[in-house]
Order: sequence, then C-alpha cells, then structure tokens
Amino acid sequence: MKFIVDCMLGKLAKWLKILGFDATFYSKIEDSELLDLAQKEKRTLLTRDTGLIEKAKRIDTLFIESEDWNVQVEQVLNAFDLWKHVEPYSRCIECNAVLKDLPKSRARNLVTPFVYEQADSFALCPGCGRIFWKGTHHKDMEFKIEEILRKKKRRTSPLRDRKDKKK
Ligand SMILES: [Zn+2]
Repeated sequence: MKFIVDCMLGKLAKWLKILGFDATFYSKIEDSELLDLAQKEKRTLLTRDTGLIEKAKRIDTLFIESEDWNVQVEQVLNAFDLWKHVEPYSRCIECNAVLKDLPKSRARNLVTPFVYEQADSFALCPGCGRIFWKGTHHKDMEFKIEEILRKKKRRTSPLRDRKDKKK
C-alpha cells in the first residue's frame, strides 16, 4: 500500500511515515503533477480536496473527512485495514525510505560520543543518510503512537472477531 498525500495534509503524511507506511508528500506541487506521480507510482491519493478527487480519474483516492490529523490517521488505517501493518520507526520521516539497521560499531564515527554511549540500536536511512537511534524521537511521539494503537483495540467488532477465528 503506497500513498501520496495532498500538500494540505502534512501532519497526516508525517504520521503515516512514523507508523511505517510509504507516504510521499510534497509541500508545493501542482495538481496535475501530483496526479501524474500518483498514477506513475501507483499510489493512493489522500486528500480533502473534492475538486482534486474529481480530476483523479485513473487513480485510487480516499477523501479525508476530518481536519484533525489524529482522526485522519485512524480513518486511513481503518479504510485500508492497515492496523496489523503498523511498524513504528521503520521508515525515514524526512525522505520516506525504509531504514536499515546499523550495527553499533559502525555508528561510532557517525554520531556524537554522548549518543554513542546512550543508545544501543541505530538505523541508517539509505535515502538521505540520516542516522536514527532510540531516543531520536521525543517521548511525546512514543506516547502518541501508543495512543494511536489503542484505537485499534477499541474498534474491534464482534463480527470481525468471528471472521478472525475461522482462519
Ligand atoms: Zn531519509
């Protein structure tokens, strides 16, 4: 599942990436270019712009209902049944590339001595070269991820439970 996110929805794009989803985002882009990219890269367009959805004839779209990014994230995960695919911190928030594990020994010269001492696991972005480590992300972010994942439990319906048991 790959997304392209309308320039109005930066926070949604960022949070999809934090949760590990492939979500490209351009802060400035012409509608026609956005639609071309969506088609070329087979991405589902997420937008709150009904005019844009009308123009998007040959690509999949999802109209984002809420103005609140928390609700937006929930809507996307529900719409495409993506809760079980959430993998926080597996993707670069800046450039959308999938992060690669970096052995601690190789991180030594790439981070400050303080970070090297404090962190145990490191990851390298093959796209932009950034190094991430546990602690890169603010405590608020971890709290927020837990909060988002709690919504998953809340929405489990009895019908869904029955379906799952059959497998
Ligand atoms: Zn990157």
